[in-house]
Amino acid sequence: MIKPPEYVSAIKPYVPGKPVEELERELGIRDSIKLASNENPIGPSPLAVEAIRDAAAGLNRYPDGGGYYLKKALSERLSVRPDCIVLGNGSNELLDIAARTYMRPGDNAVMAQPSFVVYAMSVQALGCRAVQVPLKDHTHDLGAMLEAVDGKTRMVFIANPNNPTGTINRKDEFDAFMEGLPDGLLVVMDEAYYEYVSDERYADSMKWFRKGKDILILRTFSKIFGLAGLRIGYGIARPDIITEMDKLRPPFNTNTMAQIAALGALRDYDHVRRSVEINEQGKQYLYGELKRLKLGYVPTEANFIYMPVEKSLSLYESLLRFGVIVRPMGPAIRVTIGLPEENRRFVEALEKVI
Ligand SMILES: *Cc1c(COP(=O)(O)O)cnc(C)c1O
Repeated sequence: MIKPPEYVSAIKPYVPGKPVEELERELGIRDSIKLASNENPIGPSPLAVEAIRDAAAGLNRYPDGGGYYLKKALSERLSVRPDCIVLGNGSNELLDIAARTYMRPGDNAVMAQPSFVVYAMSVQALGCRAVQVPLKDHTHDLGAMLEAVDGKTRMVFIANPNNPTGTINRKDEFDAFMEGLPDGLLVVMDEAYYEYVSDERYADSMKWFRKGKDILILRTFSKIFGLAGLRIGYGIARPDIITEMDKLRPPFNTNTMAQIAALGALRDYDHVRRSVEINEQGKQYLYGELKRLKLGYVPTEANFIYMPVEKSLSLYESLLRFGVIVRPMGPAIRVTIGLPEENRRFVEALEKVI
């Protein structure tokens, strides 16, 4: 009987947020809400939806593997040359491609714990070691991460804001981290929630890209742009890094619909502004209610709130019975900020079960 390498069997499978349909099938209930995967509650931009409709008749053709028009639009938006951009089937795929491009057997990658679980999975899939450094005050401890770097370290993964805690690393600490880092390893700066951040002290990763450093900045259309189901994200890095990653990138990794919808979404500033606004209102509402219920939470710079609780798994399951899906995260639950009505449903259910 065929067996995978031990380092593959050892990987714990990714557990996605429970889909509404699955919960309703299991419990025979209706009108459930999902606040579990940090999706945009107002949906995609109407411009993106319209673009998809127009593109459907051309689907007999392969996608533009180079994503010319989307890269051009991103290039103008970000003031970055198109050859500094790589498109991915979600930024998730780019994490994988980056690891495959730069990690050799026996190497390690430094990352925080808890952070986005895909970092460790991408590295372990290659027989490499994930060196996990505990958060400090629910935030990446960049000093400790720097100390964890050794001769075998090839990559450092940073989620800024962090998932699941919603915390950010500031400019001053990130700059000190970059200055202290030895040469020849790739920093992956995962900015999936970039557009939600309001704190002015937020680390400026683009500065280090412009300085020509070994950095890959990842952003996505899955979160604020509301296109999680289409799978499209992008990376920004020096052209030589993009060229090497392109060798391992499947030729048609981003599909026609995704490229076209992303182009539409990029044009819709209004949708982004509205999404930020609704998120901010929901955040303030939830902060108030959690204070009233005397429940602790970590202030967030993203579209979700991390709530340390006792017995998080049983709290999660109790909320399910009220048709409210959140995400259990070890000693906490993580709730996505939803529409006002969804936030109210969450608070009502929470009040009943605590
Ligand atoms: C949601 C998320 C992503 C985005 O994944 P996609 O593949 O672009 O959908 C990446 N990193 C973090 C930390 C996330 O939370």
